Amino acid sequence: QKQLCFKGERVMWVQPTTLKELVALKSQYPNAKLVVGNTEVGIEMRLKNMLYPVIIAPAWISEMNAVQHTETGVTFGAACTLSSVEEVLRKVVAELPPYKTEVFQAVLEQLRWFAGPQIRNVAALGGNIMTASPISDLNPVLMASGSKLTLVSNAGKRTVTMDEKFFTAYRKTIVKPEEILLSVEIPYSKKGEYFSAFKQASRREDDIAIVTCGMRVLFQDGTSRVEEIKLSYGGMAPTTILALKTCQELTGREWNEKLLQDACRLLAGEMDLSPSAPGGMVEFRRTLTLSFFFKFYLTVLQKMS
Ligand code: FAD
Repeated sequence: QKQLCFKGERVMWVQPTTLKELVALKSQYPNAKLVVGNTEVGIEMRLKNMLYPVIIAPAWISEMNAVQHTETGVTFGAACTLSSVEEVLRKVVAELPPYKTEVFQAVLEQLRWFAGPQIRNVAALGGNIMTASPISDLNPVLMASGSKLTLVSNAGKRTVTMDEKFFTAYRKTIVKPEEILLSVEIPYSKKGEYFSAFKQASRREDDIAIVTCGMRVLFQDGTSRVEEIKLSYGGMAPTTILALKTCQELTGREWNEKLLQDACRLLAGEMDLSPSAPGGMVEFRRTLTLSFFFKFYLTVLQKMS
């Protein structure tokens, strides 16, 4: 296979064949867009009048389409389509004990309500992350689970955890212009760890979320005392966020009604929205953050019993 390149009057489109070529191109054209499914970039160019003079298509890079089962989770190349992620995770969930696949089950739950099959068949996991939309359905799950992102550039590779620092502003991340998202490791869960994802949209299927979330709790060995908790929300700020203060206050507490009450009080304070927040429905969105936690609380209780 040879690198393909089409040059038009306004746009140059390049499809490299190796990771080395891809990395060299991105360092030569740091502002180039990497396009896989084109379900974001296509809309920006056709409907929002954006012009991207250099487009790089990583479809042929094997490392970016690979799936690896590691000691700690499943690693997907960033160009894996959402349908292929779904297929792989379904198999893993069927084969492994349920306690190991809590996060995978939550990803599958989000994918069930993610766009329609036409979009899922072409849209990539990496495209969803790198678009950095505040209402991405997968980013709260990846953030609450502490998924690992491997970035690559001419300077080499580095792996970062998706945490509260990854998204720096509306549609911005810590990824440098010359860097490429190479792969994403979604972790196994362990015994005593529970994970859920919820999404509320105006319409159940094929609709943009109003609020969406990923929630993780890990209990101290054999107890119902919280060792770690991470609540990540989309739709409540210009980026996907973690309810850091609430999580901090809930750590070390027993999973009981008192914790539920305190969590709701803390979330109501922390997940504040100004009355003029873009998207509107401010009261509804604030209420959803509590409703999701209530659902999570009950789901965990049920799973523990
Ligand atoms: P592309 O358009 O190909 O690329 C998107 C962006 O990511 C570009 O800026 C590109 O440069 C960058 N990028 C891609 N890969 C990399 C990489 N490896 N390294 C660095 N940068 C990279 N989203 C949801 O979260 N939930 C939904 O329910 C949902 N429904 C949708 C319904 C419709 C009808 C449409 C059109 C979109 C919907 N989306 C939804 C948004 C979109 O489909 C997803 O964000 C999708 O995952 C984007 O992937 P893509 O491959 O099409 O991205």
